[in-house]
Amino acid sequence: MRGFQDRANVDFVQALLAKRLKSLPAEMVGLHDAAGRVLASAVSAEVDVPAFDRAAMDGFALRGQETFGAGPYNPLELEVIGSCYPGRPFSGCVGSGQAVRIMTGAPLPAGADAVLQAESAEEIPAPTRSRIRLIDAVPPGRNVGHRGEDIEAGSIVFRQGRMLRPQDVGVLASIGKAPIAVIGQPTVSIIATGDELLPCGSRPEGHRIVDSNSVMLEALVRRDGGIPRAHGLVPDRRDALRQAIMDVGCDILLISGGSSVGEEDHAPRVLAEIGELCVHGVALRPASPAGLGFLQERPVFLLPGNPVSCLCAYDLFAGMAVRQLGGRPGGLPHHTLRLPLAHKISSAVGRVDYVRVQVSKDRVEPLATGGASILSSTCQASGFVLVPRDSEGHAAGDIVTVYLYDS
Ligand code: AMP
Ligand code: MG
Repeated sequence: MRGFQDRANVDFVQALLAKRLKSLPAEMVGLHDAAGRVLASAVSAEVDVPAFDRAAMDGFALRGQETFGAGPYNPLELEVIGSCYPGRPFSGCVGSGQAVRIMTGAPLPAGADAVLQAESAEEIPAPTRSRIRLIDAVPPGRNVGHRGEDIEAGSIVFRQGRMLRPQDVGVLASIGKAPIAVIGQPTVSIIATGDELLPCGSRPEGHRIVDSNSVMLEALVRRDGGIPRAHGLVPDRRDALRQAIMDVGCDILLISGGSSVGEEDHAPRVLAEIGELCVHGVALRPASPAGLGFLQERPVFLLPGNPVSCLCAYDLFAGMAVRQLGGRPGGLPHHTLRLPLAHKISSAVGRVDYVRVQVSKDRVEPLATGGASILSSTCQASGFVLVPRDSEGHAAGDIVTVYLYDS
């Protein structure tokens, strides 16, 4: 066993990923599956929404000009010549002295240019055609939703690269765009190595522990828009690991455990043998035994088995690849807060520190349980702070950026 000779900087690894990874090709999806996906090209509208002037209120469509001068001492009476519904428009024309009963969303009948709100009309029952009386002017355009007021034909509705929100998908439906071209979702294989591991769903037994990394990585991959494929447990044998790696056919491969320099740490050697090992050892705490390489141009991440290190190395490196291949921005996806530190954080120049913190009363409290194996510390934490490589840490009161675990 030899220790790490020298460790790569976090920036170096991230720059390497940014340089080598491109987003996946586009695919067509229906709108039911489009929320959360990334648009492969800009979308422009070919139609106006709405495509016609329509009533914005229930009431009476009329000619606004005629109502000028109407008032309590000069009421105006109009004859109601029909009704107009969103699905059953009025086919006639509203002439002088006439109005049409209209429902919200119905197309404004020919001749009319304004809608009198139902509450402002006094209906005068009549044996044949009813009449209404109004005591206020209704200027042209009042209570009318105009053609194209939502979306104008020819306008760019969404730019390329937009991650579609639920309401975006609604807008795409309203302009009749379906299916749409989105960037493919990367498939991500997850292999967990370790003779001591029991599959998720087991109870810990004697000296055997349950694989917590695979299920955590699956959820992280989903968070970042990838499709996880867990391949289960692989024993600490070089040939078994080699075979497992060669068997997977995904866009990205994550290998948990066996990434360090111990006797049973086969992953770096196997990757160097069958592919390209670009980085082994990173100046990052925890997660220094992380590695990165490529197998037929597909990125392979060596994630340390210690669960906090695994989470940290995923977020800083592997997640970047998942997001980038899926057309998302590569940077951390966490929401951030800028708040003062309640206590100092000590670090060492030359490495990045991933420090679990709790936010309470608008102050940032570093957590004392700092071990890389204590996964529950990340459950207690609100998020993490990254202490840069050139820093010896932060003093109490310094304003720091907290990356929040909750979205
Ligand atoms: P390794 O990176 O294989 O040297 O493992 C470092 C530590 O993490 C050891 O205590 C392992 O038992 C533990 N470990 C490895 N893989 C996992 C896993 N998938 N889930 C939980 N703990 C693990
Ligand atoms: Mg191991």
